[in-house]
Amino acid sequence: MIPWLVACAAAPGPIPDALPACDALPALAEPRALEVRLWRGDGVTDAEVARAYGLLAGRVHRWGLELAPVGRVGRVEGSLLGAHPESGQDELAGLRGFLDAHARPAQTAVHLVVVREIVDPRSRLARTVALQGLGLHPEALGSPEGQVIREGLGEAPFTPFLLVDADALDSPDAARSLLAHELGHALGLAHDGTPGNAMNEVRDPTCAAGLTAGQLAALR
Ligand SMILES: [Zn+2]
Repeated sequence: MIPWLVACAAAPGPIPDALPACDALPALAEPRALEVRLWRGDGVTDAEVARAYGLLAGRVHRWGLELAPVGRVGRVEGSLLGAHPESGQDELAGLRGFLDAHARPAQTAVHLVVVREIVDPRSRLARTVALQGLGLHPEALGSPEGQVIREGLGEAPFTPFLLVDADALDSPDAARSLLAHELGHALGLAHDGTPGNAMNEVRDPTCAAGLTAGQLAALR
């Protein structure tokens, strides 16, 4: 049982749609360019990946982040979290394998992975957690879920990444908030309980794009 994953973002459930735009957001003085490597899991189409990327890029443009996709859409086999009990693998084996193959020391890029199931539904992990999104940063910023994953990965290389469930893309406004929240984690932002803050664990239905000046500065 690994209950800590629940702490980060986005358990499935009704999410208010039609979020109003947050027009009063401050902007970074100079945009930061960020490469995004795109991946699709089993049963996910290139179009769904493109949709996730577009939703994310449109939202974090408000944060001064200029995303640019790099390379072709890669393929992820199976889920990155959880493992079939008969496989004998631990719950982080999929993620460890992905990072072993694709981690890069430079943090000018993030991986955006769109999957049908973030947690393998056959795994023990799936009995206790259900996620629509997950974003992690090498330094974890003290978040319990990040620390546990980091420790679980041991000396494996690490790189910022975010995972999103393809089914979460059905609602564009909610998906933008989810993706931006997880990218915030991937870039090192911790949770912020302020109503309307994009890093609030409970996404505010009235405004889910806001970041403080300090958070924006941390993205530089
Ligand atoms: Zn979170």
